[in-house]
Amino acid sequence: MVMSELFGSMVFSDRVMRERLPEDTYKQFKDCCDHDRPLPLDTANVIAGAMKDWAVEKGVTHFTHWFQPMTGLSAEKHDSFITPTEDGGVIMEFSGKELIKGEPDASSFPSGGLRATFEARGYTAWDPTSYAFIKDGTLCIPTAFCSYNGQALDKKTPLLRSMEAVSREGVKLLHLFGRKTKKLISAVGPEQEYFLIDSKAFEKRRDLMYTGRTLFGARPPKGQELEDHYFGAIKPRVAAFMKDLDEELWKLGVLAKTKHNEVAPAQHELAPIYTTVNVATDQNQLTMEIMRKVAAKHGMTCLLHEKPFAGVNGSGKHNNWSLVTNFGHNIFEPGKSPADNAQFLLIVALMIAAVDKHQDLLRISAASAGNDHRLGANEAPPAIVSMYLGDELTGILDAIADGRTYSKRAACEVEIGVHVLPKFAMDSTDRNRTSPLAFTGNKFEFRMLGSAFSIADTNTVLNTIMAEEFRLAAEELSAAKDFNACIKDIIRRIMKAHGRIVFNGNNYSSEWVQEAERRGLLNLPTTVDCLELLDSAENIALFERHGVLTAEEIKSRKDILIENYCKLITIEGNTMLDMAEKDVLPAVTTYEKELAKTVNSMKEAGFAGMPQKNLLRTLNSLYSDAVKAVEKLKAAMAEGKDASDWMSYGRICRDKIIPAMNELRAAADGMELHTAKKYWPFPTYGDLLFSVN
Ligand code: ADP
Ligand code: MG
Repeated sequence: MVMSELFGSMVFSDRVMRERLPEDTYKQFKDCCDHDRPLPLDTANVIAGAMKDWAVEKGVTHFTHWFQPMTGLSAEKHDSFITPTEDGGVIMEFSGKELIKGEPDASSFPSGGLRATFEARGYTAWDPTSYAFIKDGTLCIPTAFCSYNGQALDKKTPLLRSMEAVSREGVKLLHLFGRKTKKLISAVGPEQEYFLIDSKAFEKRRDLMYTGRTLFGARPPKGQELEDHYFGAIKPRVAAFMKDLDEELWKLGVLAKTKHNEVAPAQHELAPIYTTVNVATDQNQLTMEIMRKVAAKHGMTCLLHEKPFAGVNGSGKHNNWSLVTNFGHNIFEPGKSPADNAQFLLIVALMIAAVDKHQDLLRISAASAGNDHRLGANEAPPAIVSMYLGDELTGILDAIADGRTYSKRAACEVEIGVHVLPKFAMDSTDRNRTSPLAFTGNKFEFRMLGSAFSIADTNTVLNTIMAEEFRLAAEELSAAKDFNACIKDIIRRIMKAHGRIVFNGNNYSSEWVQEAERRGLLNLPTTVDCLELLDSAENIALFERHGVLTAEEIKSRKDILIENYCKLITIEGNTMLDMAEKDVLPAVTTYEKELAKTVNSMKEAGFAGMPQKNLLRTLNSLYSDAVKAVEKLKAAMAEGKDASDWMSYGRICRDKIIPAMNELRAAADGMELHTAKKYWPFPTYGDLLFSVN
């Protein structure tokens, strides 16, 4: 199939709708989307009919409301189109009602107390701003998932609300600059990292199967030190996978664009072309799912965990975010005229204020048990939120704040609204790769997210905190007598109060951790530290003011996230115990028995047998460390089970269970290094990382 036919062939896209819908239906549909109005039922009926006909022509028999519950995965429940006829046959039917609203019996999804089991089920509601698509012979309708009282039970609902908020408040501000903007749209391009390993090796590791990461494993002789994998030639088997993946994604309308090898062995990356944030979120969920499926077809397993292997880089997801008007103007683009630049500088300053005030929310949006292993591990930004603007842009803002002349290349006074900005180069040389949130010329790249995350939460936060700053600035500017002076004043105040969040240096250095502490920036190393702050009075007030989340919804989210964290750590602890007691300790015992026999027979043969004896001693000492760690881990896990609530359980995970797991791992990895390969019960790091050839 040629590309023009392939791309989007499985999507009920705008083009398909224009072709297949009666003109007035199409117009009505567009109008409802543009003005965030609900669709009348008769219009929905016509669309549902056209959608079904289109799908049936492609051999589809089922449809599903596709949604993103708080598990962070996507969920679907399939219903067929068939309706019985009186003569004992069937016809294929799909009504507007079925399109708009569904009632999955989804009572097992986490609701954080928002939905008691005796209450009615949650329902799903069509999100017409994200196109329906066909996956595995089923028509998938992107939907939001809510309780009967309309409380959000998913990740899409708050994201859509935040898109409205940032648009509403941003448009108000832009109108003060004389713009005719009708809508401000948040756009995102998520870069996705992942690992590929051979499925045969994967299946021999229960830790990978149950938890997505290795809980044991000594460093292999070769890791990523040569950096020979990064952007290296792609192995044929991986290349075949990537080709298939691209094609599957293109069929689904995902603009998969860039693919390359990453830093760690077996690590790769895929980046799509950016698009509207809710579509990008849906498409990233799909991308992760399709990656797993296509890998399986090629006899490989795709690992999306943030830290599948200790000692080599983990996987992240870079969230490139910008705000674009309905006229296609990106408001983070430095302008060419003085007036444009006043607006640009103000907006960058507002971003600084937003990020400094809400460091906690951005950090929380990237918090998970998996990502805790990655942040601050010299491969990803630290757990401290800061921003990179580059020296020139920072210099300009500082100069405005201090009422100084900005001069670097050419002496140039930056008078807001009077002068054109000096050109600041944003070339690759001054691109800082260590910053958690980097300004990269016309967008902000948030690099804290982990590879397995839905990008919904981060973008909900980015939109909401920016909406709040737009609101405050618009309020002040609309009352100002001298518009330019007021802009300058706002920038000056922001730089004084929030300039501390700007850091252009190396975020991986230990000096930065100390410097950040001096600046009073938050440092939240673990998920538990993060979640304690989620439902603070300020956060509740912010989300409620912009209609993004209610106090109840925030509390329910906190409950779900901490419960999920505890359960994950518990599964990891149990898996470790299982592997230690059933595999590692018995294997080492067997090897020790062999060594002991050797020592004895060497003695009988007249040798001292000392080298073997020393090895036995080393192994036995590690063995007893491991046994102690097993007991410690069991005790810590029992304590966790007895905790009165999930938050206390979480603290026990952080303070006792995880440290005990680390001790057990250290002992086991030590034994691995001293045990003959044929005795070791599962594939080693070398076997896993170099399993695909
Ligand atoms: P890298 O960060 O690896 O250098 P690129 O600069 O090519 O990668 O861009 C990474 C991602 O940023 C891509 O998904 C791209 O589509 C997206 N992107 C580019 N411009 C914008 C923009 N204005 N808004 C949002 N995302 C963007
Ligand atoms: Mg990037």
